[in-house]
Amino acid sequence: MTILELLAADASIGDDVDRIVVVAPHPDDEVLACGLLLAAAVERGLAVRVIAVTDGEAAYPGHDPDELARLRRREQVAALAELGIGADAVHRVGLPDGRVGDHLATLADAIVAHCSSGSLLVAPSVHDWHPDHEACGEAVRRLPSTSCAVRWSSLFWAHHHPERLVSSGPRLLRLEGTERQRAARQRAVAQHRSQFRHPTGRGAPILNVDRISHLSQPFETYVEPGQ
Ligand SMILES: [Zn+2]
Repeated sequence: MTILELLAADASIGDDVDRIVVVAPHPDDEVLACGLLLAAAVERGLAVRVIAVTDGEAAYPGHDPDELARLRRREQVAALAELGIGADAVHRVGLPDGRVGDHLATLADAIVAHCSSGSLLVAPSVHDWHPDHEACGEAVRRLPSTSCAVRWSSLFWAHHHPERLVSSGPRLLRLEGTERQRAARQRAVAQHRSQFRHPTGRGAPILNVDRISHLSQPFETYVEPGQ
């Protein structure tokens, strides 16, 4: 079973929403999971905040983490620029890549500081397979329900490792994107060059054609609030 078989309802940004807050565990998650949502938010003139949880410095063990962090921060800014989002929309929390779960309280504080009663808050699902992704979902779960207007959970790794998500019986939302939004998302993802090529040129990169195959769909998937 693929998670696409679980799609249950169409999603749209409600009229009561004036700000989109996207939690990205690593640079690239903001566009891999939420690129269409961010592009739509810009077109509607909504405020956007990206909570950059880590700098993704541990993506390639053995590679200089400081150098990788600098590179990935630049790539994230370039990716968001493709969607029309400025660098000032990014709030960097600076948690250690791979150990987000050790800092849930810090992360929850950082997220809630950027939310308002008109915010649509999107963070990875607690069933998004990667420990840092699931920790982000857990941090949001701990926030009071009054901290934002609506919450959706985003999905990236669950497209490839769906078992736990599927067994949780989720209702999935489908956010349609226009052709223009999809093209912007594609350009944005391509800015994360370090993820498509191993730094030494000899190892396997984090992303490849298969890992971004969900981007060929004209929609993005989210988990309904409360799940
Ligand atoms: Zn990630």
